[in-house]
Amino acid sequence: MKILLIEDEPDLGAIIQTSLSHHQYVVDWAQDGQIGWEYLITNPTIYSLAIIDWMLPKVSGIEICRRLRAGKYTLPILMLTARDRMEDKITGLDAGADDYLVKPFGMEELLARLRALHRRAPTFQPEQLQVGQLRLDYGNNAVFIINSAGQEQSIGLTAKEFQLLEYLMQHPDWTLTHDQIRNRIWALDTESASNIVAAQIRLLRKKLAEFGCGDAIETVRGFGYRLNSINK
Ligand code: CA
Repeated sequence: MKILLIEDEPDLGAIIQTSLSHHQYVVDWAQDGQIGWEYLITNPTIYSLAIIDWMLPKVSGIEICRRLRAGKYTLPILMLTARDRMEDKITGLDAGADDYLVKPFGMEELLARLRALHRRAPTFQPEQLQVGQLRLDYGNNAVFIINSAGQEQSIGLTAKEFQLLEYLMQHPDWTLTHDQIRNRIWALDTESASNIVAAQIRLLRKKLAEFGCGDAIETVRGFGYRLNSINK
């Protein structure tokens, strides 16, 4: 899933982005409040969560929270701040933040807060997804192929392959465009070749083909790709 991080401290931002990407998250990192706000209004539905620093250049974290809630966005928000006085926490929560983390904090705590926020989010994340012969297990971050006898075999996927298959499995029988896939699976600042989506699909298909599911992902010419729930 994709997270928007708005944090102006370069070292902290880099640590958060790196840690989260080791845990199957894709992170768009904006380094000031104005850029963060633009990311949000340009792509309001691609983020599952936002991590927003309180003190930011141009537009403050609190102002971003207020604007989001005024616009009825329900995106879960975790505020980061160096402030730890009670009245600041109340201001943050009143502005629409869902949770609060005081700097300095450990990455394990950040990850735990994100998991908790995501569980409470209105877009409830199921424990697993199943489409056709594929089952994605969020508990183990693993994908299994189910054979005709009902037995399961685990498919070893890279982080990117997992994210791509997850996105397709969240929208079975639905054509996802190249742009939708690219925006969801890669951070916005990723320098990438124009065929990055096609190349990643090819790798994923190859893995699936080892288990006899090479044609589960259909190419929709001129648009994108579709994961079929029933083999055609
Ligand atoms: Ca700051």
